[in-house]
Amino acid sequence: MRTSILGLLGVLACAAAVQSHAAPLLALQCGDVFDAKAAKLIGARTIVTAADGRIAQVLPGKATAPDATVVDLSGQTCMPGWIDLHVHLGQESSPKSYEERFRLDDIDFGYRALVYADRTLKAGFTTVRDLGGDVTPHLRDAINQGYVQGPRIYAAGKSIATTGGHGDPRNGINSELAHLLGPPGPADGVINSVDDARQAVRQRYKEGSDVIKITATGGVLSYAKSGDAPQFTVDEVRAVVDTAKDYGYRVAAHAHGKEGIRRAVEGGVTSIEHGTYMDDELFALMKKHGTWYVPTISAGKFVAGKAKIDGYYPEIIRPKAARIGAQIQDTFAQAYKAGVKIGFGTDQGVAPHGQNALEFGYMVEAGMPAATALQAATFNAAEVLGAPDLGQLAPGFRADVVAVPGNPLDDITLTSKVSFVMKDGAIYAGGGSAR
Ligand SMILES: [Zn+2]
Repeated sequence: MRTSILGLLGVLACAAAVQSHAAPLLALQCGDVFDAKAAKLIGARTIVTAADGRIAQVLPGKATAPDATVVDLSGQTCMPGWIDLHVHLGQESSPKSYEERFRLDDIDFGYRALVYADRTLKAGFTTVRDLGGDVTPHLRDAINQGYVQGPRIYAAGKSIATTGGHGDPRNGINSELAHLLGPPGPADGVINSVDDARQAVRQRYKEGSDVIKITATGGVLSYAKSGDAPQFTVDEVRAVVDTAKDYGYRVAAHAHGKEGIRRAVEGGVTSIEHGTYMDDELFALMKKHGTWYVPTISAGKFVAGKAKIDGYYPEIIRPKAARIGAQIQDTFAQAYKAGVKIGFGTDQGVAPHGQNALEFGYMVEAGMPAATALQAATFNAAEVLGAPDLGQLAPGFRADVVAVPGNPLDDITLTSKVSFVMKDGAIYAGGGSAR
């Protein structure tokens, strides 16, 4: 099955490569290689890339291939390019965020996003799932067309909320402005019925989204009182999920509170994001439905820290940030022990872009082996995306490679010292004269 899919993808990629620049043929001589499927190191290998940006061969030890330029990565551990399943490249939170949305235009956020995308790629994250933001689908297109550098992006576009909920774009504005703008509807990502739910998904399709994001409960950084109240009925979730299937979309659900998580899981979403107040009952339900958990410990730690600073967040945000933020790492530890499937995600854009790899350390600190944390950001994350050619270093897969100096299983903090980054066979960091 996989062979035939990859064969087809290979044909499509060859067609695309004719139009774009063919990647140079390279032989990456890696001191060690992480097998993301088996979650273990397998020793020295040479990864040979092809002109279509895919991996042609993985050879034992230090080898070369005809016409390939050798890239010396001895002393370094090569891994599949990391995948962050939860980022927001169109923003980065700060005390100014709440007024900037009134002063700045999308194009201002767009220019900032170029910098965030570049930092993310150079930090070793060759693919991201962007879960909400109007800027990112456009950024994705500019990256794919070669105008700017950044990771491969799966973009949700505008997230789908309910009135007054997390992601209602009219929250926190004065009544005169709210009156002028009118009540937001499905096109703005706000639904209040099953019909609205279908329309909102179809609107995302029209706008070119790759994945659907719903905000199944309240959230921390929105201008609203509750961070955990359920905000969709099960029927509304189901309508989103069923309509999403028509377009080949998967659905990610932001959720903190138990009832909202239960409804999202029963409604059939692919992943629960944050999952702050999950318990044994919900872990069992997620295992039954095959639901993924994307923890975002980074965002939890960041907001809990900033909640201690007077004036950093508006007062309506502060207690939510303190309470919810502090809980996520503990919940992650319990979910891992309970055997819930875990995919790597940070919610970067809450914390600064480019610091995504800190999440690996937080996962290990909470009891997950380093190899399992790396697997969550590679093999597992590719499964969450439904991307059969990402997340492994093997022939036919995309030539996305990240390397660190030394053994990340012994020292997970090496993931913040990335020495080499390749995406689609092109080198973006390290690699010496082959760049
Ligand atoms: Zn988020």
